[in-house]
Amino acid sequence: MALKVCQIAAETSPFAKTGGLGDVVAGLSRALAREGQDVRIFLPFYKRVAQLDFPFVAVDFLRDLELALGGRRFTWSVFTTRLPPSGPDVYFVHCPALYHHEGIYSGDWDEYLRFTLLARAAIESCQRMGWGPDVFHVHDWHAALVPIYLRTLYAWDRLFARSRTVLTLHNLGYQGIYGREVLDELGLAAHAQLFAAEDLAQGRVSFLKTGLVHADLLTTVSRTYAREIQTPEQGFGLDGLLRSRADRLVGIVNGVDYGEWDPARDPHIPHHYSAADLSGKRRMKESLLGKVGLAHRRDAPVVGLVSRLTSQKGLDLLLDTLPEFLFHRDLRFVALGSGEERYESFLSWLQVSFPGKAWYYRGYNEELAHWIEAGADLFLMPSRYEPCGLNQMYSLRYGTPPVVRRTGGLADTVEPWNPVARGGTGFSFDHFTPEGLRWGLDTALRAFEDAEGWQRLMQNGMAKDFSWERQVRPYLDLYRRLTGG
Ligand code: ADP
Repeated sequence: MALKVCQIAAETSPFAKTGGLGDVVAGLSRALAREGQDVRIFLPFYKRVAQLDFPFVAVDFLRDLELALGGRRFTWSVFTTRLPPSGPDVYFVHCPALYHHEGIYSGDWDEYLRFTLLARAAIESCQRMGWGPDVFHVHDWHAALVPIYLRTLYAWDRLFARSRTVLTLHNLGYQGIYGREVLDELGLAAHAQLFAAEDLAQGRVSFLKTGLVHADLLTTVSRTYAREIQTPEQGFGLDGLLRSRADRLVGIVNGVDYGEWDPARDPHIPHHYSAADLSGKRRMKESLLGKVGLAHRRDAPVVGLVSRLTSQKGLDLLLDTLPEFLFHRDLRFVALGSGEERYESFLSWLQVSFPGKAWYYRGYNEELAHWIEAGADLFLMPSRYEPCGLNQMYSLRYGTPPVVRRTGGLADTVEPWNPVARGGTGFSFDHFTPEGLRWGLDTALRAFEDAEGWQRLMQNGMAKDFSWERQVRPYLDLYRRLTGG
């Protein structure tokens, strides 16, 4: 029997994506559908999505419906299209009064209303479709109220009598915390006892925490991150609650879309290659250096960086280490990213201070990200914390061994290189200090001098399979365990 799985999230690529969340919802849903499951995705019909060139169709029995949130009444409708290329159906909740902002996240006062409407409209759409999901799989704080809604406002509906809920935590840094007065608009004032008492006493409610308490199962995007968020250092204040639910918390590493990220057929790059024939990779290195105007020398390693420039990504460590490496050693550094001003200025400063050796592009550029993955010899990810991380998995597939800090998903996906046994796929350091990174980079650069060993290292990484075809299995096992199927 096909499982009925309802995914609810703020992002689904290619319609709406700011980071890993959008890729995961799309990749997981596609893989579930390929496995024959009945998957339906709900997300808001953001203004920028409505402007995209997809064949959106209005669902005639989900048109001009009304929902009261506190004293306000909202009119909503639903549009649908398939997740390309031939994926499951995506349902977009259309409510111009709430989704008229330019961006996915508005940061405005009514953010909680935007995602409350998403949660309730998704549930009410299921009712009107007569479709009772076996699993409501909800993502991050935006959809985290679905479990409590099913236990309260919609508990009367037998359609959901067998429905179970899974909440996936993509990044604990965002929790959706609002004043307790919003309970009325959420329609949950009569159920205040189901919210965390200590929060209410302090005059607030947390969407994510409420989901953590009421979801049947919790998942996060790597095994190590599942452990780390149970510690005070990385728990963002939720570690106690997570420890108390440890038996319901599972870590599953995200999958990679190799249709998009495979050096043998990547449409973004001019030279293709595989583990069996790496000549295209050598040409990519030359082309990359030519493109960005850095001097090419085959023995000089190229270190790549593609990242949101936030402190989460460990950029503070670069401030102390990269200048000395660029000064003392013959290496090239190619960086792509945007974010906090101090990191952008530092990378611009590097480019000016080390002409011919360092180059930086400020902004978001999909094509350049592929060029760097393919053309670099080494990839840097010294993250302070990293729930899963995708770039290190892309790097492995592109034969660009990553230098990572051993945290979260980086710890789960990168195996340290052992030059004697010739096993391993990259380099990882433990301590979040400049010395830690210095040690990691230094180890990698020494390994690079052994051309034969390096080739083996590249091939080890390229042979790894983090595809969704594989990673979907633990999700299916989990759904089955939950539903007794
Ligand atoms: P996060 O979701 O925390 O940003 P991930 O490693 O999970 O980190 O995913 C980041 C994704 O965004 C990757 O696909 C990466 O290539 C992409 N990315 C990040 N910054 C840029 C940029 N400046 N230009 C192009 N792609 C970027």
